[in-house]
Amino acid sequence: MLLSDTETPIHLAPAGQPRSVHELTDRLFSAYTVEDGAVHLAGCRLEDRPFLRMGDSSQARAGALITDESGRAVEDGFARLLGMDETVPWQPPPEMSPSQLAETVRHTTEAARHRWGVAGTLDAVFIWCKHAEGKLRFTIRDQSADLPFCGWTRTLQPPPFICPHSGKPSFHVAATDDGRIVAFESIGTCEETGRRVLADELVTCDATGLTVLADQTRICPVSNRPVLERALATCSMCRQRVSPKTIVKGRCLACRSTRPIAKDEPLLAPLLETHKGLQGWANWALSETAEVFILLAAGWWKRLLLVVDKESREVRYAAQGQRFPGGFSAINVSEIDADATR
Ligand SMILES: [Zn+2]
Repeated sequence: MLLSDTETPIHLAPAGQPRSVHELTDRLFSAYTVEDGAVHLAGCRLEDRPFLRMGDSSQARAGALITDESGRAVEDGFARLLGMDETVPWQPPPEMSPSQLAETVRHTTEAARHRWGVAGTLDAVFIWCKHAEGKLRFTIRDQSADLPFCGWTRTLQPPPFICPHSGKPSFHVAATDDGRIVAFESIGTCEETGRRVLADELVTCDATGLTVLADQTRICPVSNRPVLERALATCSMCRQRVSPKTIVKGRCLACRSTRPIAKDEPLLAPLLETHKGLQGWANWALSETAEVFILLAAGWWKRLLLVVDKESREVRYAAQGQRFPGGFSAINVSEIDADATR
């Protein structure tokens, strides 16, 4: 087993290590479930990497020491995992020239001597372990996603696909309807449109309880919850489109929650300035939603309802009613300029 300049070096390899790409792909591919698609290899490089098993020829030290190419000792457990305890004769890779091999031996024995303090000659044999590096490609319809892998063929395990959306590992790969390849667990189905999308893009409709795409819904200005467009209800008083859950006896929660305000409330001032006809109304009450102020003015016999846009401060809707009984009918916004208190 002595390796010197005059002898032919001994080359071994673990007896049971996978040697071909085919042996690897069987193990890798079977780990994944790909919905409506497939996994294949998008490149794989197999490479023999040398380890050196060294024994002390002077017998001063028992046992073998195994180092990698750089002279770094490897653990016994690791050597066993790679199958180095059961070897077969091997041909070194042709790209390694004899002088390169000799250089490696010199380099590593030096390192080993230094580390172990052994003065005498060290016997060395090469053990070539096969290393694989490549890429798996998941193809679903016309889209694909790559997953790199790397490791010793003997111990290589299929790496989990890391969902680009959630960052979570998964062996179940699927695509949204618009072609984004993600972990199956990240996908949800819109119960309104049937579209497969990211589960995060779905919301629960406050009115129907359905799990639906957010873009099929509108945020109710009263409850601030998403509601399917088709499930929105109209408040009979302020005429806003709101979640039906906020409505009792035709009126939304905002319309049922007005509180009295003073006539000199800062909010009212610009409105009374723009619409002089409003100045005759003495009693005011206010409520608000995410989008509007609801103003209610009461006179002796009549009531006036104003729905004012919060952003533009313009009157969106106006209605008039008798004080008794309740109920309003829409009026033209221009009509509020006339004094209609009496
Ligand atoms: Zn309302």
